[in-house]
Amino acid sequence: MTKRALLSVSDKSNLVEFATGLEKLGYELISTGGTLKALKEAGLTARPVSDITNFDEILDGRVKTLHPYIHAGLLARRDEESHIKQLEERDISPIDVVVVNLYPFKETIAKEDVTEEDAIENIDIGGPTMLRSASKNFRDVTVVVDPADYNDTLENLQQSGGTAAFRKKLAAKVFRHTANYDAMIANYFVDITDEKDPETFTVTYEKVQSLRYGENPHQEAAFYKEGNVKGASIANAKQLHGKELSYNNIQDANAALEVVLEFSEKPAAVAVKHMNPCGVGIGDSILEAYQKAYEADPVSIFGGIVALNREVDEATANLLKDIFLEIVIAPSFSEKALEILTVKPNIRLLETPIEVNESDSKKVVSVIGGLLVQDRDHGRVNADGVEVVTDRKPDAKELEELLFAWKVCKHVKSNAIVVAKGDQTVGVGAGQMNRVGAAAIAFEQAGDKTKDAVLASDAFFPMPDTVEKAAKAGIKAIIQPGGSKRDQDSIDECNKHGIAMVLTGMRHFKH
Ligand code: 5GP
Repeated sequence: MTKRALLSVSDKSNLVEFATGLEKLGYELISTGGTLKALKEAGLTARPVSDITNFDEILDGRVKTLHPYIHAGLLARRDEESHIKQLEERDISPIDVVVVNLYPFKETIAKEDVTEEDAIENIDIGGPTMLRSASKNFRDVTVVVDPADYNDTLENLQQSGGTAAFRKKLAAKVFRHTANYDAMIANYFVDITDEKDPETFTVTYEKVQSLRYGENPHQEAAFYKEGNVKGASIANAKQLHGKELSYNNIQDANAALEVVLEFSEKPAAVAVKHMNPCGVGIGDSILEAYQKAYEADPVSIFGGIVALNREVDEATANLLKDIFLEIVIAPSFSEKALEILTVKPNIRLLETPIEVNESDSKKVVSVIGGLLVQDRDHGRVNADGVEVVTDRKPDAKELEELLFAWKVCKHVKSNAIVVAKGDQTVGVGAGQMNRVGAAAIAFEQAGDKTKDAVLASDAFFPMPDTVEKAAKAGIKAIIQPGGSKRDQDSIDECNKHGIAMVLTGMRHFKH
């Protein structure tokens, strides 16, 4: 019996080569509107699906292949006598190969000016249906969803009609593909109905690349991105220079990017080590901002990652090249800056848009056997949103310094204490198991600079001991969420030393 292949593809790349190969192997080609046209134009012989179904494509293509003659041809078990008999009684021929890739839903919703109408029309119905029928019947049917598999498929079909192991592999790929396709649609519907609670979260990730290894060389790892990344993101970044990013690079670069995104009004620079900011500076130019970030902690920045929120110019590049850095991330690099930095073979240069996408994805972390999903921490406070609780009020400059320290503190692993002066961090205490411990580290690092500096704490003070130590170190103002039963003890301690304290009413744990 003549073998038959049904081709119905949106992505027509390499279609003609593949169809030619199938024809050479003796397959009769059956096809839908656009695909048929492409095949005929290339001089191939193919029959329209309507020849099989005796039914025209209707409803603007919404119904093309949704027909029992197609699906019976796909689903019939070739080793089941009664199935074959039923086909014969109705004059239905089996279909042996299905080549389908779906309407470009992802590409459609990625367009800036996409309408809901447009998105809906790009939900493929008949395609996934054929893919599912063919995949269920993989023992007898070969199903190809990815043009990248065309060559291997031809090769396999040459081996006396193909092997079941290969067909099963292709079928698994189909179910992965259609699951991802449906999840993408679900997420889009959630987006347009604004129902963004974690219950409606559906995972749609696609692999960007396998990584050489994970956090350590004995751990395998890969990098995945969401289907439709918009705005600032490492998954969206363009690498201009340097070796391939590692697992740790990606995490650290992301951490640096998240901090620098807090600052848009003025040029800002952030240095990160092991996912914590070690130096943050704001300036009138990107050069000044970087100098401040560097001087904040010239020891820790070594081997670190630097994120900047303005174009890297020649002067800044000249400083960046002087130390060993793993990565520099910025919205752009001037030509001169690139010339200077690309001389260093090991530095990775990443360009990413610097606009925050507030409607971005959820934050996901894994636990053994599960996932935790939450909104990203987009919590912000401004000068009007804080409550002064001490006798002394911070003056305008102090308040600015406090808010700067607060923004940085949000991105430091808890328990977190940040000491800042002007628009520069001078001490960062990160990831300690108690708050006084975090403060002690920040003070030690700041040294003399704690005098007249400000302090931010990511969560409330359960006791007045941190304030007591801050007073001794010369801190003049403190910002913290408040909310402890013993807030008053800390406030009293501030009043005793003339320290101004403001409460944000918002905590920034980061574990
Ligand atoms: P063509 O370019 O050949 O006209 O259309 C190919 C596309 O149509 C493929 O992406 C295929 O998945 C899709 N398709 C095939 N049959 C049907 C159907 O019955 N309904 C819908 N909505 N799409 C179909």
